[in-house]
Amino acid sequence: MSDSAGRKNQIRYVGRAVSRGIAIGQIVSLYGDRRQFFRVSINEDAVSGEVKRLRTAIAVARDQIRRLIRSENTALNSIAEGILDTHLLVLEDRSFLSALEDSISQEHVNAEWAVKTVTDSYLIKYRSLDDPNIRERATDIQDISDRIQAALGQRRRTPMRLPAGSVLAAKEIRPSTLIELGEDRPIAIVSEHGGWTSHAYILARELNIPAVTGLRKILRHLRNGDRIIVDGYRGEVVLNPSAATEADYRDRAPKAPEISKIVKDVTEPARTLDGRVIRLSANLDSVNGYPIARRNGADSVGLFRSESLIGRFGRFPTEAQQYEAYSTLLRSAAGHRVNIRTFDIGVGQISGRGDDRERNPALGLRGIRLSLSYAKEFRRQISALLRASAAGEMNIVLPMISDPGEVHEVREIIIDVRERLRSRRIAFGEPKIGIMIEVPAAAILADELCAEADFFCLGTNDLIQYLLAADRDNENVANWYQTLHPAVLRTVRDVLAAGKNGNRPVTLCGEMAGSPFYIPLLVGMGAEELSMNANSLPGARRVIESIAFEEAQALAREVLKLPTPALIESRVREEIRLKWEHLFLSGG
Ligand code: PEP
Ligand code: MG
Repeated sequence: MSDSAGRKNQIRYVGRAVSRGIAIGQIVSLYGDRRQFFRVSINEDAVSGEVKRLRTAIAVARDQIRRLIRSENTALNSIAEGILDTHLLVLEDRSFLSALEDSISQEHVNAEWAVKTVTDSYLIKYRSLDDPNIRERATDIQDISDRIQAALGQRRRTPMRLPAGSVLAAKEIRPSTLIELGEDRPIAIVSEHGGWTSHAYILARELNIPAVTGLRKILRHLRNGDRIIVDGYRGEVVLNPSAATEADYRDRAPKAPEISKIVKDVTEPARTLDGRVIRLSANLDSVNGYPIARRNGADSVGLFRSESLIGRFGRFPTEAQQYEAYSTLLRSAAGHRVNIRTFDIGVGQISGRGDDRERNPALGLRGIRLSLSYAKEFRRQISALLRASAAGEMNIVLPMISDPGEVHEVREIIIDVRERLRSRRIAFGEPKIGIMIEVPAAAILADELCAEADFFCLGTNDLIQYLLAADRDNENVANWYQTLHPAVLRTVRDVLAAGKNGNRPVTLCGEMAGSPFYIPLLVGMGAEELSMNANSLPGARRVIESIAFEEAQALAREVLKLPTPALIESRVREEIRLKWEHLFLSGG
C-alpha cells in the first residue's frame, strides 16, 4: 500500500515477542522447506559453478525418480508410475532447463532462487487455466521444485551471505538456517509461526537476535528490501516506518538494557539468601559459546545440543569432524564439566526423501529412536564422544528416552565401541551416561531409570508439550502450553524427588529454568542445577541471590496443591509482588 506520493504506508502488526531487543532493518524473505534459502546475488565468475550445481541437483532428482520407478519393493500402481513419468519428462524438458539456467546466468542469482522463480512462473500459469487437468499439473511442478531444492540443499552449497542489517522473514524459521548463516547474522527475525520454546528462538535468544512471531499471514505483506522495525520487548513490528516512528524506537532501544549487559564476570556459585547453592550452567548450540556463558556466571555446560553440527555441515558430520568439535568445546570449557547430548533430530531433518516426511514429527522417529535406527551414524557419534572425553570431564546425554531398555541398549553399544577403540589402541574416556527426562513415560519411570542413568536432564520444553498435548512450535495452542499447569509442576517435583532418592543429580535445562518468573518455584521444589542460555544467566543469578530457599519451598508447597494454572499463576504473581518485585522492574 502506498500513498499518492508513492511512499509506502506505515503499518503496525502485533505478534508474540520471543527474543528481546529492538532492531531496524530491511526484510529478506526466506523460502524453502527442509532447507531455507533466500535470493543471493552472485558474481559473473560464480555463474558457471552455480549452473553446474543446478545440473548436478537435477541429475540427482532424475536419479531418485528413476529409482522410485524401478524399485521392486514400491508397489507402484499405474497412476503413480504415470505421475513419476511426468516428473521425469519435466526434468528432461529443454525449455524448463534453459529457463533455469538463464535465470542464473542473466539475473546472477543462486540456483535455489532460480528454481523458485522459474517454477513459480509455471505455477501461476497453470493455476490460471480453466482446464482442471492442466491446473492439476501445478501440484507436479511444486513436487518437482521441492525435489530439486532438496537436492541442492544436500550438495555443495553456495554460501548464504546476508546483507548487513537484514531482518529475516519466514513462515517459520528453522534453527539450521541460523546455524548455516554462522557469523552472518540477521539483526532480527519475524515469522508467522513458532513459540517461545521453538529451537530457532532458543537460538535467537542465545545470539541476542530480537524476534517476534505469531504474525499471521504477514508474509503476504512483506517484500524483500522493505524497511521494518522489530520490537522484541512488546511483540510489535512496524512495516515501512515513518522517520518519526524510527526515531521513537531508536530512542527506546537503549532504555531497555539487557540485564546480561549489567552483570559480568561472576565466578562465585549462586547462593540463596539462606545459603543454598544453586549450580548455574549453560545450554549451548555452538562449540565456541562457553566463554561468554562463563563470564555470565556458568560453571559448566549443562546441555550441548550436538544436532547444531548437523545444521553446520548440512548432513551427519564425520567422526573426525565430530571429534574436532567436541574437543574444541571441551578445551574451551577449560576443566569444567560438559554434557553433550547425542543428536536430537527427526528423520525429516536428515533424509531428502519426501516419503520420509512424517505427519507428526514430534511423535516420530526422533532423538534416541532415530539414533538407534541409524546404527552406523550413532556408533560414529559415540566413538567421537568417547575419544573426545579422554581429555576432560565430558558426559553423554541421551534425548527422548521413554524406556529404561533404551538406555541399556545404548550402554551395550558404548561397551562395544569402547572395545573397538581399545583394540585399535585409541585413547578414550569414561563419560557418565545421562538422559533427558522429557517424555512423560520417562518422568513416570524416573525411579526405575535411576538404575540405568547416571544423571537426569529435565527438559521442560518437550515435557510440557507432551504432558499437555500442546505443540511447542504452534502458536495456535500457545495458551494451552502452560508452564504453570499443575500437572507440569507435580511432574517436575516428582522427577526432582526421584533423582534425590536415587542419588542421581538432576539438571533442569528447559527454557523454564532460565526464566526469573519460574526460578523461585524450581528452587523451592528442590532444583539444585539450572542450565540456560548464556544471556539468561545473570538474571537467574540475581533472582537466586534475592530469595530464601525456605520461602521458595513454602511457596512451592502451597502452589503444588492448587488445581489450575490460573490459580498458580496468580499466587506466584502475588508472591513476587510482595517480596521480589524489584527483581522484575528493569528487565530482570
Ligand atoms: C527440552 O526439551 O526441554 C530441552 C532442553 O531440549 P530441546 O529444547 O533441545 O528439545
Ligand atoms: Mg527436548
